[in-house]
Amino acid sequence: MSGAMRFGQCGSVLVTGASRGIGLQMVDSLAGGGFSPGKIIATTRNPDGAQNLQDLALKHPNIHIIPLDVLSQESIDKCAEEVSRLVQDEGLNCLINNAGINLMTDFHTVTADKMIENFRTNAVAPLMITKAFLPLLKAAASRGGAGGSGSMSIQRAAVINISSQLGSVELNWGESANIKWFPYRTSKCALNMVSRCMATDLEPDGILCLAIHPGWVHTDMGGPQAPLSPEESTSSMLSVFGGLSEKAHGLFLSFTGEVLPW
Ligand code: NAP
Repeated sequence: MSGAMRFGQCGSVLVTGASRGIGLQMVDSLAGGGFSPGKIIATTRNPDGAQNLQDLALKHPNIHIIPLDVLSQESIDKCAEEVSRLVQDEGLNCLINNAGINLMTDFHTVTADKMIENFRTNAVAPLMITKAFLPLLKAAASRGGAGGSGSMSIQRAAVINISSQLGSVELNWGESANIKWFPYRTSKCALNMVSRCMATDLEPDGILCLAIHPGWVHTDMGGPQAPLSPEESTSSMLSVFGGLSEKAHGLFLSFTGEVLPW
């Protein structure tokens, strides 16, 4: 069975930032790939403006669009309540923290406000969202996953943080060092640490946690020169997610499944 096929045994998957780019493609691939989870919860801060997502939801009744502005605690709490009503006792199997921003400023133009804005969206929000969804993730984990195996997997309970290779301190040399985006790079570096800390704290509950780099992808953020299409990045990531086990818990992976240095 290919990794992505395992989503077919997954009760629910939630993707943040599903209005466009990688998040929208994940929802599309999950819904149309022949391995669709029971419920795909696609969150966006502006459902009325997310026309492509609305079109997908018309075609696939297992897509549920729920409003979520990742910067608002009130919005996060409301979203968690709505998801709780949707999934009930089954809980939430897989939370994908994908929403992100990139404020491209270098050493000379960076300001404290830009650092904080990028940090709040890319590092603080995934942590606050995971905290709000923890009861639902725990409920799913306590059911033991596919076949009640009790091992870690996306079919049981997982938090996947979409990070970036640009958040790696160790890889910030040579060509990579020429990308001088202080707010973005440091926020993804912080998200990597959030992912690793969550892995320690959520391990006793059997909730798999990791950070993943999606590759350089042709989206509004990645730009037109990016070598990967959203389909290519997402298809590879979904295949990796489907095959995840305890071995990947607490790691920083590339979209190909390779382990990246922090
Ligand atoms: P994108 O095309 O710019 O899309 C970003 C998504 O995040 C949009 O859906 C956007 O919603 C959402 N978002 C931003 N702020 C939000 C907020 N406060 N509340 C709710 N949603 C919010 O970016 P992308 O390329 O798909 O990137 C997705 C993830 O991959 C990001 O975390 C990014 O850092 C990471 N990544 C991307 C690349 C790449 O090459 N593209 C490389 C490495 C990592 P709106 O439509 O409402 O603005």
